[in-house]
Amino acid sequence: FIGDRSVDREVDSVCPYCGVGCLISYQVKDDRIVAVQGRDGPANRGRLCVKGRFGFDYVHHRQRLTRPLIRKPGVPKALSGLKPEQWFEVFREASWDEALDLAAGGLKRLRDTKGPKSLAGFGSAKGSNEEAYLFQKLVRTGFGSNNVDHCTRLCHASSVAALLEGVGSGAVSNPVNDVQHAELILVIGANPSSNHPVAATWMKNAAARGTKIVLADPRRTELSRHAWRTLQFKADADVALLNALIHTVIHEGLADQDFVRERTANYEALAAHVADYSPERMAPLCGIPAETIREVARAFATARAAMVLWGMGISQHVHGTDNARCLISLVAVSGQIGKPGSGLHPLRGQNNVQGASDAGLIPMMFPNYQRVDNADAHAWFERFWGTPLDPTPGYTVVEIMHKALAPDDDSHKIRGMYILGENPAMSDPDLNHARAGLAALEHLVVQDLFLTETAWLADVVLPASGWPEKTGTVTNTDRMVQLGRRALPLPGDARLDLWIVQQLARRMGLDWRYEGDDAGVAAVYEEMRQAMHASIAGISWERLQREHSVTYPCLSEDDPGQPIVFIDRVPTADGRIRLVPADIVPADERPDDDYPFVLITGRQLEHWHTGSMTRRADVLDAIEPLPVASLHGIDLQRLGVAPDGLLTVESRRGRVTLHARRDDGTPLGTVFIPFAFAEAAANLLTNDALDPFGKIAEVKYCAVRLSPGGPA
Ligand code: SF4
Repeated sequence: FIGDRSVDREVDSVCPYCGVGCLISYQVKDDRIVAVQGRDGPANRGRLCVKGRFGFDYVHHRQRLTRPLIRKPGVPKALSGLKPEQWFEVFREASWDEALDLAAGGLKRLRDTKGPKSLAGFGSAKGSNEEAYLFQKLVRTGFGSNNVDHCTRLCHASSVAALLEGVGSGAVSNPVNDVQHAELILVIGANPSSNHPVAATWMKNAAARGTKIVLADPRRTELSRHAWRTLQFKADADVALLNALIHTVIHEGLADQDFVRERTANYEALAAHVADYSPERMAPLCGIPAETIREVARAFATARAAMVLWGMGISQHVHGTDNARCLISLVAVSGQIGKPGSGLHPLRGQNNVQGASDAGLIPMMFPNYQRVDNADAHAWFERFWGTPLDPTPGYTVVEIMHKALAPDDDSHKIRGMYILGENPAMSDPDLNHARAGLAALEHLVVQDLFLTETAWLADVVLPASGWPEKTGTVTNTDRMVQLGRRALPLPGDARLDLWIVQQLARRMGLDWRYEGDDAGVAAVYEEMRQAMHASIAGISWERLQREHSVTYPCLSEDDPGQPIVFIDRVPTADGRIRLVPADIVPADERPDDDYPFVLITGRQLEHWHTGSMTRRADVLDAIEPLPVASLHGIDLQRLGVAPDGLLTVESRRGRVTLHARRDDGTPLGTVFIPFAFAEAAANLLTNDALDPFGKIAEVKYCAVRLSPGGPA
């Protein structure tokens, strides 16, 4: 379509799916996107995956919300019993004034009668930085508490907890593209070919030029075809494997002693701790031969440059923070950080989960990771926003659902929520519990593109704007702030999200004035830049208009940005990397005679998270139209289920029926289910046990039983 005269315009933006942050241009004709092209962005150099190229037509879907909706009185809030096409019948259309008055009025009434802690808000990693910033500001200054969170809690919260503790920063040390400078890369708990596909292409290119890939994961996934070694370790044995790698580096005398002496703290304690974790002792636990563990550890420690990239296979465990602590220790004792082709890279999931976290959409941090219970940070933000602020951390995603079901006399019971662009009725663990929590709320306001499972439980539904319909910034996994531009008009009576947040704020008594085009997005960005001056002071709105992408830290307009950090020191109090030993903490729910299989949940290439966008994108839904459960062929045979036959999966919390798919990369005794399909929602099965540090739920591991057949 490039240069096609039949296209009315090409508009530059950023892919709305994963954290790789591919730059794109929308090809628009008659106010409809007809194609998407990859641009020469720093993260993609023209490349796109199937989601970026074909996952755009959700914005034109017939199910888009185009009018505010108000729930009819007396309709019970239960997802069962009604088909999705009947969901609209329980709402009536309303004017914006009526809907906004009702939405804000309900929140204000609860705040004033039950107290600020009776309210909570979920923002979205699918929105812009400006929306995330304003949303958390509304909760903190309008609701009056820090009960604000988003899907980072279910994504990399444990990684961030370990990174803040170990290196003083929650973001990556080196960009994905740096794999081209690595002699070895360790990819662990991640399936980039499906979840970060363009990042995977850089890894494969590096492998073709001689970089050794070590792929460590309970599932053998597509990247293993390019790997030097594939460590298909037993699910839940990650700390055992990582401690055995650290043991080998230290006890074979391969640690970088200069780096350890000058740049780390607590080395002696770590060395003593891992003494018991020899590869020979850990091999039976991990299912990996001791000599292979030693071989990989030696190659990692002696490589000219070695880098670790990890995903949610590491983070979504009750020991997720311990996993990330081990990765930090492995990198630090090997001296593999602070130079090209080395370092730590948690592959961020959503397109703006990095930016939403940076902007303060988390319950314990103001923007730029300033702790809400730090007296200096608290005083600074009280001055900056001109209002008293709650000095105590708020509740996290799963805790908020528990608090929604708390007894009536609990002074911290959550009674009202504002949810922008998240779908916890699909994405939270133990969905029956989470849905009961949402249904129990006295007042729920949901702002979204579609009548999602969460929106259906709302009292007021506000029709939101899709990414191609707005201008704003997002921050990718490489810490790159990138500008997306508005390509389409809004459908019907839908409104810009930034406008809706401001309208609610005003009705709750806040005197906000953000003037300018697109609901004052540039003015909001400039305020956010002041609040986050320590990282993005040099990235002005005007600069983004010119350069499209700028990496932080960037402290002045002439600073090109710093793709590689921690070169001389890390931003901890003493500048040293803190090494934190980790013990083996088993999964909360192990298989037993009643529930003998392990369930692993995740994403698949064609569908994104809860499917609200990709299942409304025709090409993607045509490729993967049905919910599937992937199992080893031997397990399928034992169960008597043919590939594509029906299979029922049941845990102590719920049951789903899906189509079986043979995948011999899934280990025996394990089933993998993507969580994008409402008709067989994987999170009905998952466990909401939390990592104590990151408060992330263990959605990567629980016990299930399988049986052939089920309702068609
Ligand atoms: Fe979009 Fe990620 Fe695919 Fe790039 S790799 S096109 S950012 S989904």
